[in-house]
Amino acid sequence: IQVTQVVAVVGAGVVGLSTAVVIAEALPHCSVTVLADRFTPNTTSDGAAGILFASQFPGEQRRWFKRTFDHLLLIASSPEAGVAGVFLSSGWQIFREVPPEKKPYWSDCVLSFGTMTDAELKRFPQYKFGQAFTTIKCECPSYLPWLQKRLEKAGGIMIHEKVTDLAELGLRYDVIVNCSGLGSRELLGDEDVHPVRGQVLRVHAPWLQHFVRVADGHTYIYPGAGGVTLGGTRQAADSQAIFERCRRLEPSLGSARPLGEWVGLRPGRRNPRVERGHVRVHGRRVPVVHNYGHGGWGITLSWGTALDALDLVRQCLNERPPEARL
Ligand code: FAD
Repeated sequence: IQVTQVVAVVGAGVVGLSTAVVIAEALPHCSVTVLADRFTPNTTSDGAAGILFASQFPGEQRRWFKRTFDHLLLIASSPEAGVAGVFLSSGWQIFREVPPEKKPYWSDCVLSFGTMTDAELKRFPQYKFGQAFTTIKCECPSYLPWLQKRLEKAGGIMIHEKVTDLAELGLRYDVIVNCSGLGSRELLGDEDVHPVRGQVLRVHAPWLQHFVRVADGHTYIYPGAGGVTLGGTRQAADSQAIFERCRRLEPSLGSARPLGEWVGLRPGRRNPRVERGHVRVHGRRVPVVHNYGHGGWGITLSWGTALDALDLVRQCLNERPPEARL
């Protein structure tokens, strides 16, 4: 296939790599280059618990969640599941008070959604209500290398580079896709993007098979392939406090062996920004497709927002003949 157009994707977290793969596979006449100053295992995505879960999202986010879930479910059901680090995870979300909405809008995005029985709730005497469901756990330390291989197979290239000026990229590429997460604050001057600190612990407790999440999101236990992730926090907290909260929920953690702790900064924003923009290069408009600001839900929304970004890239390329390049 003759390459006629060149696309740059800034960012190699779960959002950037998903977007690059989707574009490279759907548009074989394009050459896709990922530029990033951090690759796996050093991105924020690598430290995320990786559970697919939604809270009170407006509008588009249900669709993004559903499309990501369906994409990952196919991987989880394939021989690739182990190497990609994508598998089903069943468990409970528990509430101190019965919520006004017992069936959330995302109940049909996940599998086997139902209300917890009294027998299940008995394990958590402080809690009055619970939801049981099966979702997906997507572990980025495996998933990102797997996406990188998939990108290479589709002809994509990866370059280690800190981008300081999108307009400069406009000299070299037909379309720029900005997936720089928190980096967009500096790169674009978007002050709506802000860091939201998160901290998790990993422990060895292979007897734990079910996830447990307190509905306020402050305490969770997520079993995974290489350990159990305990969280979490949106503010500064020490690891001991997280461990104590989780042990109160799940007393068997008392004999779990610590594996490590991790602190990361979520790319917080009121809503992810998935839309077109442009930069000016010598008086010419070079299209930019933004896809950043996924907050605490970047894994959950990654494939869905990547597919929307692909549609926007297609629009840009259709409007921009290759001769328009410098
Ligand atoms: P990142 O992973 O931060 O990647 C950004 C990329 O852009 C990096 O490659 C970086 O090098 C590059 N970049 C930035 N600026 C520049 C620049 N100027 N030049 C070149 N490259 C640049 N989400 C879930 O869905 N489920 C969870 O269970 C979950 N748990 C979490 C737990 C914790 C403790 C934390 C902190 C987050 C959690 N998240 C979870 C949120 C998730 O981690 C983020 O939403 C997600 O990682 C965002 O992905 P991203 O690709 O946008 O950003």
